[in-house]
Amino acid sequence: MAHGDFAVEKTDEEWRRELTPEQFHVLRQHGTEPAGSSPLNAEKHAGVFHCAACGQPLFESATKFESGTGWPSFWAPMEGAVGTSTDRSLFMARTEVHCARCGGHLGHVFPDGPPPTGMRYCMNGAALDFDPT
Ligand SMILES: [Zn+2]
Repeated sequence: MAHGDFAVEKTDEEWRRELTPEQFHVLRQHGTEPAGSSPLNAEKHAGVFHCAACGQPLFESATKFESGTGWPSFWAPMEGAVGTSTDRSLFMARTEVHCARCGGHLGHVFPDGPPPTGMRYCMNGAALDFDPT
């Protein structure tokens, strides 16, 4: 990811002012929240999950499923909402998922999800805001 890749770009100082320390750690420093720490894990209401940094709608509640991992999991993002890159940390190649609007790190995607896509978008709840419909 380079400067100019995203519609919303701010300096670390600006993001630090706008986000909580936990949100900043996940979204801007590719952090991972402890499993089971997010209240959004158990969120079962109908609505839309937005990027906690820039507000872009990312996932609809209809695509959320209980993965048993301790992180909010979805089988598909909304059209054009996220981008991916290859993450080679932790001695393995994983597919990193970020907000397509601000580049904020959201989590990873794995090919072991349920139908209809077979994908598991394993997200950090700290990177998301939930808006019930
Ligand atoms: Zn965003």
